[in-house]
Amino acid sequence: MAVVGIDFGTLHSLVGVARHRGIDIITNEVSNRTTPSLVGFGPKQRAIGEAAKTQETSNFRNTIGSLKRLIGRTFSDPEVQEVEKKFINATLVDVDGTVGVEVTYLGEKQRFSATQLVAMYFSKLRDIAAVELKIGVQDVVIAVPGWYTDIQRRAVIDAASIAGLTTLRLINDTTAVALGYGITKSDLPEPENPRHVVFVDIGHSSLSVAIVAFSKGQLTVKATAYDHNLGGRDIDLALVEHFAKEFKTKYNIDVLSNPKAVFRLTAGCEKLKKVLSANSEAPLNVESIVVDVDAASHLNREELEGLISGVLDRIPAPLQRALTDSGLTLEQLDSIELIGGTTRIPAVRTRISQVFHGHTLSTTLNQDEAIARGATFACAQLSPVFRVRDFTIHDIAPYPIKVQWAPTLTDPDDDTELLVFPQGNTLPSTKVLSFYRKDPFDIEAVYAEPALLPGGINPWIATFKAKEVPAEASGDATCVKLKTRLNLHGIVSFESAYVEEFEEKEEVPAPMDVEGAEAAPPPKKKRIVRKKEIPFVASTSSLDKSVLETLREQENQMHSADKLVLDTEDRKNALEEYVYDTRGKLDERYAPYVQAAEKQKLLTALKEAEEWLYTDEGEESPKSAYVARLDALKVLGDPITFRYREADERTRAIASLRET
Ligand code: ATP
Ligand code: MG
Repeated sequence: MAVVGIDFGTLHSLVGVARHRGIDIITNEVSNRTTPSLVGFGPKQRAIGEAAKTQETSNFRNTIGSLKRLIGRTFSDPEVQEVEKKFINATLVDVDGTVGVEVTYLGEKQRFSATQLVAMYFSKLRDIAAVELKIGVQDVVIAVPGWYTDIQRRAVIDAASIAGLTTLRLINDTTAVALGYGITKSDLPEPENPRHVVFVDIGHSSLSVAIVAFSKGQLTVKATAYDHNLGGRDIDLALVEHFAKEFKTKYNIDVLSNPKAVFRLTAGCEKLKKVLSANSEAPLNVESIVVDVDAASHLNREELEGLISGVLDRIPAPLQRALTDSGLTLEQLDSIELIGGTTRIPAVRTRISQVFHGHTLSTTLNQDEAIARGATFACAQLSPVFRVRDFTIHDIAPYPIKVQWAPTLTDPDDDTELLVFPQGNTLPSTKVLSFYRKDPFDIEAVYAEPALLPGGINPWIATFKAKEVPAEASGDATCVKLKTRLNLHGIVSFESAYVEEFEEKEEVPAPMDVEGAEAAPPPKKKRIVRKKEIPFVASTSSLDKSVLETLREQENQMHSADKLVLDTEDRKNALEEYVYDTRGKLDERYAPYVQAAEKQKLLTALKEAEEWLYTDEGEESPKSAYVARLDALKVLGDPITFRYREADERTRAIASLRET
């Protein structure tokens, strides 16, 4: 069974696998360790990951990135409209109450939800891992931002499920990093005196910070803080706006009103930004930014820092918040570990240093791969086939969660809400709540402070409906216990509902045979508690089983169709290659083994196949047509190849006999 961890990033993602000698980040079909988080749609097939990146410029309206920003959101979410739209070229639409895209696929307009897009992308990552491991991939741990809410988390689990994956755990990005950091250290202190490490991750779209206490065999997240809208893409955008202004006067072109030009300029700015992390000055060149204009400019580091000061200035606040929440002093911190591509910018480091003054920033972790490594460790921990060192993770919930209910008729003045998991509550965690009711009732779990949630995300988490409440003999309200869990994924579930029935049983006293003993004490009573389950339904934002099944089917069909397109292409190439390869060899190495008539016949057949390949029919035929033609050629060619091989092997055998 494969053990796989995924760092699902805004710009690109990484896949880790556990093997007996350790954890490896695997490479994709073009040997890259990172795979672009992109899904593209074409006239014949989908293009996902690297393939989507290759055709992004020519097909940018049908290529969708920002997948992790969209999943779990609604179309009308102000953040989708005001922020995400700036980074997406495809047309966003509403798909069954969630945000999705409208694209041209197989020559038709089609709509897909963000959950489906993420499922497509996860299928690709699954295939990449399966190719590497040579076995099917099922169980995964997926790293997500700590600021993700219940709805976003459930949507990611649904997406994985559509892709045929079982999510053993959703792990928070920085917690994954902390796990990878701690599990490999053999010198961790005793729990009384833990080592405190700060992890700062600034990626393409968001900033996360976690302060973690490490001791032997465990990690405890002390505090986390986020700015979910601060990352490399904001820096790129600031540069785009700067150069768009410059190019208006310089070339008299309006970049911002031309999506393709914005797209090209953004790519140029990202490159420029990276160069400026190492050099103090860098050129910008954007070929054909619009028709007939090659734009060029340059920027130095100081200018860059001026242009992005708005972004830089927002870095210290979340870091400071985490530090304050942790209750630790600067002296108590052991090290500050940087991860995420944007922490490579010197000015970003300066801002981080301002908060943790006195500490040098550490880059000992592999800043691009630490999340995927940690997620893979987490998968290994949960996988039955792998043994890893025991290491306990105590994570925390970022937002307070409460349950609420309508006032009861009997006690209209009673409370109608209860804070169940306060901010910072350990995760996983189970709480048993008691409700006194005579009739069926509903309970809702919601985020207690909607203002803390990203954008316009619905604070609703789940609704519990008790279908019947058994009556008490006394006529009093019945005490219904509701077991509520904040689980490993960071999502809330109602696990069970029951009433407790008590029975008192007299314990038979032990016989006493001491003469003259005082009167025996009254027999002890033992209370036996029996749980009686109450039927209930719980609804959450997870997709219904039947919907998941339909989407899985749809995904499988698209996946098979893509595979057929690739296989057909592959067989077509094989036919083409056979024609040229055999023709060449007939004049060279095969020459001594072929008779004139035989050669003529094969050459004629090869020519016919070649000509057919150039016809419209040969351009676009079903796979079977290419296979049939190749097979027919091989009937003629194989006897010749066979004779050549036999003779060749004989010559080799003789040669090796002579050597010995
Ligand atoms: P997120 O974690 O926000 O979802 P991600 O995981 O895809 O996004 P990372 O791979 O951590 O993001 O970082 C990508 C960002 O880092 C991009 O904006 C990229 O331009 C930027 N980046 C990478 N290398 C450098 C560099 N040398 N200098 C400046 N920025 C860089
Ligand atoms: Mg990241």
